[in-house]
Amino acid sequence: MQLERILQSQGFGTRRECRALVRLERVTVGGEMIDDPFVELDPEGLEFTVSGEAWRYHEKAYVMLHKPAGYECSQKPKHHPAVFTLLPSPLVVRAVQCVGRLDEDTTGLLLLTDDGQFIHKLTSPKHGVLKRYVATTKHPVDDAQLAALRGGVELNDAPGISVAAHAVEQLDANRLAITIGEGKYHQVKRMVAAAGNRCEALHRVAVGRLKLPADLAPGEWRWIDPSEV
Ligand code: URA
Repeated sequence: MQLERILQSQGFGTRRECRALVRLERVTVGGEMIDDPFVELDPEGLEFTVSGEAWRYHEKAYVMLHKPAGYECSQKPKHHPAVFTLLPSPLVVRAVQCVGRLDEDTTGLLLLTDDGQFIHKLTSPKHGVLKRYVATTKHPVDDAQLAALRGGVELNDAPGISVAAHAVEQLDANRLAITIGEGKYHQVKRMVAAAGNRCEALHRVAVGRLKLPADLAPGEWRWIDPSEV
């Protein structure tokens, strides 16, 4: 594939802009500056730099972000900056989307990708991918609340339908690890409320087998290895 097309596919701008980047000697491949935008390269696994920053070719972008509080998972945020402002511009140009949304005040593991099929698979209720959260509650959790979350609670928008957590574990007096398979609006907070408590903070620690790495600080992102995908 021509270098300018590779750069375009990775979010570095239009073909014309990518051609200019190469001609301006901003691009290196294998440590060597390349000034021919039409040079043919194998994109698979290609490592390159643009304006001194190291990149690797990814046919599809899969990334994880440690979402801090105070960011919205929306292209048109209303009250806070969008999570996309935490990503480098090439990922934004590639139009990565959130794989399911987290509330503005929820922290933790957020996946983003430009692979529509992946988003569908991970968010469709049919697949029921498990999401694990740690909820900090206002009141100490009691046995009745644990039983309600495990046995099923009614959410206010669906009376008569019981929603049970896939797993609930009490971590300490005011902290629960809750795993759910669906992704309804404010689901964990509403389940905790329906069980008779209140969620004061919510943090997502895992989606399927992907865990939030301990060394990924709030606001930081990283590529997800295709093997993990
Ligand atoms: N459940 C919630 O209530 N909020 C989230 O952000 C995610 C799950």
